[in-house]
Amino acid sequence: MSNLERRPEERTCGGKSTQSASPLPTLLEPREVPLGGPRAMTVRRTLPHKQIRTIGAWCFVDHYGPNRQTMAVPPHPHIGLQTVSWLISGDVEHRDSLGSHQRIRPGELNVMTAGRGIAHSEYSVGDEQVPLHGVQLWVALTDEHRDQAPSFEHHASLPVVSDHGFTAIVMTGELAGAVSSATTFSPLFSAEVRLDSSSRVQLPVERDFEYAVLALDAPVTVNGSTVPHGNLQYLGWGNSQVELRSEAGVRLMVLGGEPLAEELLMWWNFVGRDHEEIVAARDQWQSGDSRFGDVHGDDNARLPAPPMPTTKLKPRASRP
Ligand code: MN
Repeated sequence: MSNLERRPEERTCGGKSTQSASPLPTLLEPREVPLGGPRAMTVRRTLPHKQIRTIGAWCFVDHYGPNRQTMAVPPHPHIGLQTVSWLISGDVEHRDSLGSHQRIRPGELNVMTAGRGIAHSEYSVGDEQVPLHGVQLWVALTDEHRDQAPSFEHHASLPVVSDHGFTAIVMTGELAGAVSSATTFSPLFSAEVRLDSSSRVQLPVERDFEYAVLALDAPVTVNGSTVPHGNLQYLGWGNSQVELRSEAGVRLMVLGGEPLAEELLMWWNFVGRDHEEIVAARDQWQSGDSRFGDVHGDDNARLPAPPMPTTKLKPRASRP
């Protein structure tokens, strides 16, 4: 997906130097972001958030639906990140400048590694009566990996962990010995977890990771705190388990990772490190430079980049 805000603010994230003791648990409320365009779609964005900018290398969380809105995101570029696409209901078609053409359905995972540059497009397809409900995540690539060649992976089958009160699909990383084959470039975890009604689950987690829980379709109680639907509960690090409770049953997403040791500069669809790099990527997209290539099989007009902010972009730390 693309950040289609007309005047995106620059966002800077990361920086382990600013982190010592684990931050207090924090409820991150979503902001509604209209993605613009003729068939506008509205998402609930919880990351980056003014209080917390990254969770591990997760640097962007958009949650949309369930509703009948359509996704129509024409060709647009990315650098320095991975996009991780997850559907709860609906059907989305992905195309990119590598020639990938892939439909994604609920329970399947698309991971696109932009590296030094890629262009892609995404459209909802299939039965319009089926509500569209999903999550678009971005992972910041570390300095060591961000200039790599772009790549795309589709995972039709992912490991499932089931125990008293819950079923988890492991999207990235590992849970209770079940390891996803999705490629990541820093210690990272994500899973969709379904809690049964009247459940109380102790989910094992890594002490070195920071975590957050996104309530996808109902409220959930996380370590004793109520997390309203659509909100992201940030949990810090240093925990060996997370307690999840639900009366009615709920679907949620757990995101985690080692706190990022690098400062990032996020602008529009780019994750970089300094202003000049972002300006160069924007200019290359606008001029049709071969850095991004053409999205094979998509004749729709490319998304133009918004104007650069008038002030110079600067990276900042993960926490304000
Ligand atoms: Mn995108």
